[in-house]
Amino acid sequence: MNTSAYIGRFAPTPSGYLHFGSLVAALASYLDAKACGGTWLLRMEDIDPPREVPGAQTAILKTLESYGFEWDGELVRQSQRYAAYAAVLDRLFSQGLAYACTCSRKQLEDHHGIYPGFCRNAGHAQHAAAIRLRVPELEYHFADRVQGEFRQHLGREVGDFVIRRRDELYAYQLAVVIDDAWQGVTDVVRGADLLDSTPRQLYLQELLGLPQPRYLHVPLIIQPDGHKLGKSYRSPPLPADQAAPLLIRALHTLGQSVPSELSDARPHELLSWGIRHWDASRIPRRRTLAEAQLR
Ligand code: GLU
Ligand code: ZN
Repeated sequence: MNTSAYIGRFAPTPSGYLHFGSLVAALASYLDAKACGGTWLLRMEDIDPPREVPGAQTAILKTLESYGFEWDGELVRQSQRYAAYAAVLDRLFSQGLAYACTCSRKQLEDHHGIYPGFCRNAGHAQHAAAIRLRVPELEYHFADRVQGEFRQHLGREVGDFVIRRRDELYAYQLAVVIDDAWQGVTDVVRGADLLDSTPRQLYLQELLGLPQPRYLHVPLIIQPDGHKLGKSYRSPPLPADQAAPLLIRALHTLGQSVPSELSDARPHELLSWGIRHWDASRIPRRRTLAEAQLR
């Protein structure tokens, strides 16, 4: 690997504050980038204003700072990137690779989340419709650095998926692919909840002629009862005065055993220890980890 060319990123969504699971993802992407002298970018994925929690963007930046993270270059906000998304969407639509869908939620409710293709050949106009990407009847696969081989049949397991919603907001799948390529991201390190989005992203990269980054999906931290952190229930912001102990806990979660001499270290010292000792092969090869199982 040409280590100087490594470009990683952390891409939080301001639909809530950072929680312990986001800390684990941020830490993994930061250490993986910095351990090989790479660049670590920060991108605010603020493309869904109705779901944005007021103050979350500022709180996320503050938390990252108080936990000792320093990003390279300017923060990118996806809300400033609509023109780029629109250009790609128009191209996909005019090439017939994407189409407008006017189906109601009710019409789709019996289809288990896999779009049955009702509007595929209807030729609806874009206005007041969702835009879906036509998927091929093919299996996409990739080798994740932690989770191993992952495969998904786009036709059978996903179906034609939305790239712009009916309310004209762009979908995560489209924005993430465009921006990772635009920012030159070589390595995507994120939570394993996005493992099953990756084949959709691989297909978009292929369609748009974009390079495919390497992927590393860290275990998703779940509540003891199996629920996801943060999204379903509103977790409070990570406390600034708990930065050091929570960083130690996050390092342990990632299989990096912090020596006990560091139990009183400050965030910066913990991060620099983490950079010097980073070993991605120690990350547990699991999709989820319950918070209670952690020390
Ligand atoms: N914004 C996404 C999230 O917070 C992460 C996107 C990504 O890392 O690809 O879940
Ligand atoms: Zn439809």
